[in-house]
Amino acid sequence: MYTHQQQQTPDASRTPSPKPHRTDWQARAIAAYSREQLDAAALRLKLTTAVHTLTSRTVETGAIFADPLGQVASARVDGVLFRWADSQLVVIRPCAHCGLGTFTSPAVGRVADLGFALGAWQPLHDDCRPFEADAFE
Ligand SMILES: [Zn+2]
Repeated sequence: MYTHQQQQTPDASRTPSPKPHRTDWQARAIAAYSREQLDAAALRLKLTTAVHTLTSRTVETGAIFADPLGQVASARVDGVLFRWADSQLVVIRPCAHCGLGTFTSPAVGRVADLGFALGAWQPLHDDCRPFEADAFE
């Protein structure tokens, strides 16, 4: 019978001994981690839902970066970087002139907002702005 039991649990020798009693600080740390994981999951869901509503695209959970401390989640969809921050969806784009940097679009709540963020909105560094004619008047 003993041999039979060993066959059922071949990894018994590698199984750690029963969990030791956790101290308060350990329990608090583990609970804090659990809360953060829940926060991260909630952020991912908000981003996924918002992007899906506007684009009909499903964002894979693994493709989402979530920062529960900063309350930010972001994911790239077809080359467009979406971010959920401050309880709203925005698009992150580089400078329209030099292609560097990161600029945050106005809130994207409707398809037309998304269209603006992808097209008409041309974020520019101060140094990348074209000279304006009236500056020489
Ligand atoms: Zn620039």
